[in-house]
Amino acid sequence: MAEQIFPTGTLMAGKRGLIMGVANKNSIAWAIARQLAAQGAELAFTYQGDKLKRRVEPLAASVGSDTLCDCDVTNDAQMDATFQTLKDKWGKIDFLVHAIAFAGKDQLAGSFIENTTRDGFKSALDISAYSFVDAGRRASEIMNDGGAMVTLTYLGSERVIPNYNVMGVAKAALEASTRYMAADLGPRQIRVNAISAGPIKTLAAAGIGSGRHMFRFNKAAAATQDNTDPMGVAGAALYLLSDLGLSCTGETHHVDGGFHAIGMPQEDALKASMEG
Ligand code: NAD
Repeated sequence: MAEQIFPTGTLMAGKRGLIMGVANKNSIAWAIARQLAAQGAELAFTYQGDKLKRRVEPLAASVGSDTLCDCDVTNDAQMDATFQTLKDKWGKIDFLVHAIAFAGKDQLAGSFIENTTRDGFKSALDISAYSFVDAGRRASEIMNDGGAMVTLTYLGSERVIPNYNVMGVAKAALEASTRYMAADLGPRQIRVNAISAGPIKTLAAAGIGSGRHMFRFNKAAAATQDNTDPMGVAGAALYLLSDLGLSCTGETHHVDGGFHAIGMPQEDALKASMEG
């Protein structure tokens, strides 16, 4: 893939915020972080455990950040410490990016009704949906002058996608949570939105069965007849997190090459994708 050049400017100048969910340079959160930094934002990052720290530290340094917090979203003490760090360092924040999801591999293959366990359901919903409510509440407590939050979702919340299974249910909960959070925080001028991205090759995506078929089918069926570019997702996040997004809240915005709008793919494109 060609080196991505993120448009520079001052749309985020003077704004500070937290990026949750960078695992490596392919993470969607990292594309968003680069775009926000290119527009002047000051960033802090969370990482999940020491193994990922080694990857996130140099990335953060490359956008001028040395504020990194070890934060597993299921660990209340680490969540407390993360937001306390931000309060101590900056006093307040202006934005939050939540790009976190997890479901056990055994939950992400085959039959939804047969393979979804109570524990698998609980942990998928906890990590992938409740963590946004929890992080959003904590972030809002230090958004003293209004603010904006964005989470990442996927079309599997609205329609059945093979193997996405319990994650689709978690994403539906995440999108509903986005709307309730938007209503609660709206009077304080804190906007809450979700971006529904098309499939992008990341660690998380690799955990979902039939990945190759998914990318080929999406390319064939999208209006653009191409897969989703993380730069488009980063651009949407910039819009939603900057003052450009004024008055936009409670929204699930699709950035998927128009895949969600298509009822039936073009015959030629579909044939080519299935043969290719
Ligand atoms: P990724 O693997 O790069 O990021 C997922 C992140 O979730 C990782 O940084 C991981 O450390 C974090 N995470 C998982 N469990 C955690 C926990 N308990 N505590 C703290 N962090 C935890 O993959 P990605 O594709 O960039 O995923 C980011 C978001 O985008 C996810 O919500 C994903 O569902 C969503 N999304 C991805 C795609 C895609 O095709 N890649 C499409 C639509 C939406």
